[in-house]
Amino acid sequence: MPEFSRRHLLVAGAAVGAASLAGAAPALLRGRSGERVLVVGGGPAGAAAAIALRGAQPATKVLLVERDPTQLRPGRPAGPVSGPLAGAGYDALAAAGVSIAVDEIRDIDWQRGTAAAISGRSFAFDRIVVAPGVAARDEGIEGYDRDAAEAMPHGWFGTTSIRRLAAQIRAMADGGTVAIRVPPGRMRFPEGPFRRAAEIAGYLAREKPASTVVLLDHGNTGADRAADLVRAFGRNVDYVSGASFGPVERVDAATRTIHGRNGRLAADVVNFVPAQMAGELALRAGLADATGWCPVEAGRQISRLQPRAVLVGDAAFAGDGAAAS
Ligand SMILES: Cc1cc2nc3c(=O)[nH]c(=O)nc-3n(C[C@H](O)[C@H](O)[C@H](O)COP(=O)(O)OP(=O)(O)OC[C@H]3O[C@@H](n4cnc5c(N)ncnc54)[C@H](O)[C@@H]3O)c2cc1C
Repeated sequence: MPEFSRRHLLVAGAAVGAASLAGAAPALLRGRSGERVLVVGGGPAGAAAAIALRGAQPATKVLLVERDPTQLRPGRPAGPVSGPLAGAGYDALAAAGVSIAVDEIRDIDWQRGTAAAISGRSFAFDRIVVAPGVAARDEGIEGYDRDAAEAMPHGWFGTTSIRRLAAQIRAMADGGTVAIRVPPGRMRFPEGPFRRAAEIAGYLAREKPASTVVLLDHGNTGADRAADLVRAFGRNVDYVSGASFGPVERVDAATRTIHGRNGRLAADVVNFVPAQMAGELALRAGLADATGWCPVEAGRQISRLQPRAVLVGDAAFAGDGAAAS
């Protein structure tokens, strides 16, 4: 087995999941030199794993498949809100000798060692790293369909939604309200809604000082964080606890209104962050359990459901599946 540089892996994974990537190293590197490694997903986790693999095992043929070419352009859209981190990007991947295919993997045949893409192509692999990120989980909320998700952008995965949300906030008249919904259950970047509220409150204070940002929490765990924001931004920030609002039961995209069991909240801009689970491929390929997330061996990132797979990034969890937020 070639020399393994833990530092290389940590640097490659600095943006996200560095600890889990470093832990994944033995699993990533356990194969023979010259093998074909398929990496699915070009976000921070997949891209870092691909680069780390090439750095540690230069004879390994690494092919990264990413369905959304915009994800391969580093950098985040300019404010007033920032979205998820981007992966390393085309140039860094190419410089590391990683081959890239823009395509979407639909299924994985574990027996044959092939991954079928929507283009009709099939990619053969000796080893596979799966990093599909997260997707929205159906909460059974009346009115929350594709149109509603466009009208009330989540800005939590993909690049289009964050641009929509930013455009809506920029277009909002002064004196308006931006509502941020904090979803139930395990989620990507649990502190994100509070960071986003601070980001938006700062923007509103500068550009639209009569406007307000409202945090609508599923639970009550964010009360302290929200209190800090209220102290920092004064009347620009409001907080509604899940205890007072009740679970969200219905949304009306036309009027941008969220209906809870005990109340309703209408806003000019609604950043409706849905409940989450591992990206769709994880479910189709048998990598996710009943929680909707991908259980992995702690420290090694090997799937507990499919030992041929190494899982990195937000889709994986090494705990007991308890909610992260
Ligand atoms: C608003 C917000 C702010 C954040 N800010 C920070 C921050 O400041 N610092 C920080 O460390 N983290 C931050 N995060 C978290 C960070 O963005 C995520 O942890 C990170 O993006 C996870 O990387 P990933 O590679 O697991 O998933 P993703 O970034 O979601 O990447 C998964 C990739 O896989 C692709 N994909 C999925 N399925 C397939 C398929 N079947 N075939 C091909 N490709 C597929 C997707 O298109 C996507 O590009 C933030 C998150 C949010 C939402």
